[in-house]
Amino acid sequence: LLAADGSLAVTIFEEMTTLAAASGAINLGQGSPDQDGPGTIAEAARQAIADGANQYAPGKGTLALREAVAAHQRRFYGLSPDPDTEVIITTGATEALAATLLALTGPGDEVLTFEPFYDSYGAIAGLSGAAHTTSPLLAPDFQPDLEHLAEAFTERTRVVLVNNPHNPMGTVFTREALVKIVELAERHNAIIVTDEVYEHLTFGVPHIPVASLPGAAERTVTISSAGKTFSFTGWKVGWLHGPADLVAAIRTVKQFLRYSSGSPFQPAVAAALALDKAFFAGVAAELQRKRDVLGEGLRRAGLEVFTPDGTYFINADTAPLGVSDAAALARRLPELVGVAAIPVSVFCHEGGAERTRSLLRFAFCKKNEVLEEAASRLATLG
Ligand code: PMP
Ligand code: GLN
Repeated sequence: LLAADGSLAVTIFEEMTTLAAASGAINLGQGSPDQDGPGTIAEAARQAIADGANQYAPGKGTLALREAVAAHQRRFYGLSPDPDTEVIITTGATEALAATLLALTGPGDEVLTFEPFYDSYGAIAGLSGAAHTTSPLLAPDFQPDLEHLAEAFTERTRVVLVNNPHNPMGTVFTREALVKIVELAERHNAIIVTDEVYEHLTFGVPHIPVASLPGAAERTVTISSAGKTFSFTGWKVGWLHGPADLVAAIRTVKQFLRYSSGSPFQPAVAAALALDKAFFAGVAAELQRKRDVLGEGLRRAGLEVFTPDGTYFINADTAPLGVSDAAALARRLPELVGVAAIPVSVFCHEGGAERTRSLLRFAFCKKNEVLEEAASRLATLG
């Protein structure tokens, strides 16, 4: 957890959000919506406080929320985790990831992820003492390279950690890729951990949960969160489900991380998970329009744009502007044109960082006029 210069590292999201705030820049760095989720859901949390849900919730989460997670998985994907033994509520997906890797991996094990990878994966693998190995997602479609993936598995691969839809690349993995991941995990007797926090943010392509594929459920821990789907990132309510023995091990660790998670938010998230399917479709449709507004703007600004099928991140290549080091640019961008973005190379080890040197990630979970303004500011760069 040390930065390259040996200082204690601050996450890239904190670094860029601090820079953006200091210069009053439009913050398209951290994935944080500028509009809150449904008022009825916020009201449910206020009501829960008024009703006295203000002391510790049960360690594994309230029964109502565990049941709501199970019902959501059944309604959308035909999965049927047992709310009693196979589901736990966590403090965001972040705690779910940490508890899972700390419970299931240790020194001598390998945690295999795709690269680029969400920042906490490498950090938590490091805390657990496991080695972090990677398999690249390559331009232009950023889908898994199945041949490379097969080679990346070893007899030490304890966990293959999938993130689909993928942050930062915005890829929605094909069924073929997911089936191959399951097949390789089976062959190497590895556990699949799948981070599906963007499950409802896909644009015209279906989200396929890994656990729904043949042979997968018995070796898969599925993680998600209310933050993205419902635009309440600050509530930090997440969950995981999987086979009872794995969930019991994860719960043992989880007790000593956060013990339990925000009591008044749990009934509110339970209500959110039960919203009509039209709500979930509406969230995706609105985001798809935002993706297109920012994508168009970035193209006008002279960048090469990779249009994502999911998440609220869009990646653009700054090379057409003559930029070779997008990380250096990102650190100057707030001051230079009043926009903050995240360099994709920070989600990589060395080789991957070289391949993604000129890429920037922009978050489009913002009002359309904010996206338009950011794009016209970026157009002054060229
Ligand atoms: N996984 C991925 C891929 C993410 O992008 C994020 C953050 N947005 C998280 C996990 C963390 O989610 P949470 O805020 O629920 O802890
Ligand atoms: N997941 C968010 C992103 O990728 C940030 C969450 C955080 O700040 N840790 O932008």
